[in-house]
Amino acid sequence: MRLRTLLLFLLVLLPLSSAAVYAAPTPTEAAAIAAAENDHTAYTLAPDPLIKAQHLYSVRTLTHFGGALWGIVTLFLILQLGIAARFRNVAVNLSKSRWAQCFIFFFEFVVLSTLLDLPLGLYEQHVSLQYGLSVQSWPSWFGDLAKSFALTYILGGLGVMLLFFLIRKFPRRWWLWLWFPTMAFVLLGIFITPYVIDPLFNRFEPLEQSNPALVAQLERVVARGEGIHIPPDRMFLMKASDKVTTLNAYVTGFGASKRVVVWDTSIAKGTPDEILFIFGHEMGHYVLGHIVQGILFSFVFILVAFFLGFHLFQFLLRRYGRQWRIPSQDHWAALYVFVLVLSVIGFLSEPIQNSFTRTQEHAADVYGEEVVHGIVADPQATGQAGFDLLGENAFVYPYPNSLVEFWTGSHPPIWFRAAFAKHYNPWAPGASPKYFKK
Ligand SMILES: [Zn+2]
Repeated sequence: MRLRTLLLFLLVLLPLSSAAVYAAPTPTEAAAIAAAENDHTAYTLAPDPLIKAQHLYSVRTLTHFGGALWGIVTLFLILQLGIAARFRNVAVNLSKSRWAQCFIFFFEFVVLSTLLDLPLGLYEQHVSLQYGLSVQSWPSWFGDLAKSFALTYILGGLGVMLLFFLIRKFPRRWWLWLWFPTMAFVLLGIFITPYVIDPLFNRFEPLEQSNPALVAQLERVVARGEGIHIPPDRMFLMKASDKVTTLNAYVTGFGASKRVVVWDTSIAKGTPDEILFIFGHEMGHYVLGHIVQGILFSFVFILVAFFLGFHLFQFLLRRYGRQWRIPSQDHWAALYVFVLVLSVIGFLSEPIQNSFTRTQEHAADVYGEEVVHGIVADPQATGQAGFDLLGENAFVYPYPNSLVEFWTGSHPPIWFRAAFAKHYNPWAPGASPKYFKK
């Protein structure tokens, strides 16, 4: 009972924790936010690209919500039509070994979900090609799909084995026991992703190899950050142009694998100043400890999700177990119930997860604009131009619906980021920077 109280407390805490990460805006920042919210002129599009952007925006909104709904409805139908129970019978009839049963059942599971997700995936890639956002050939696209399939099958299969082991061993508390290995898996996953997963899908090389002058400039930006050290061998270039025309840069990894990655498309299209600003934003994630914050947030989030998920899972099995031919929670077909429950929780909690990342992204925007001060001539103009470039290049719609942004936006909308960069000048008389002393 005490545990339950603690969890309910955490549940309340979760939405608030994004507020906790949110360092209260300085007066200078608050004034720029207020000015930006009323300024829709910092990022606009010409009539022709605006039509494309509007269409892309509706496609993305529709595929996002439609995709989530499709996933939930198909999982429900798979249970309702007895397909889950049949998949389980195939596995149990083929082998007595639990390992073999698990990997046979999970093979059926992954094949069916890959097929069900395929139409939407094909459509999205078709639209990306149509708008010139992607230049990836279909064979390469299917190659990536095959790699994802193999990764999901192997790692997911081991996870399912562990899940059912814990369900049998701890029938009432498996959700809690599952949390510990999940945390270890999250940490390990973040650590090895840059070494093992990312190179499967894209080519990387040291940034210094092709852009030594840029690295020297970036080191000037790094030198402005106090107590931070990002040596050139932690800066990587990703050959994004193999597949896409869009721009990006990001921080990834954990501990010894932590690094900054800049897409080659950003270097090809951005001015040196804009690249320094984009890098400054990424460095902000690094300096402000966003990866560790994100990990801690996900630990709390996963614990709450497993607790709520467990109760919903038990409720569904009590209510529909007979109808779905799933007599007990350790029946392989119960995996479908577990995934259904996590899908529903995942979709409903998107606004919580996204408000957390939006908070971090805004902080990194502030940091990025401050850190390039004195290195680029005009940080306000550079920041605005950087966001304009990002938006124009990807046909980002300047007038997104605020509810859709609230639900799906991992970053603040581009129009706001451009306007904020334009209005935020912590070096003006009477203003003061947030992360640097004047
Ligand atoms: Zn960012």
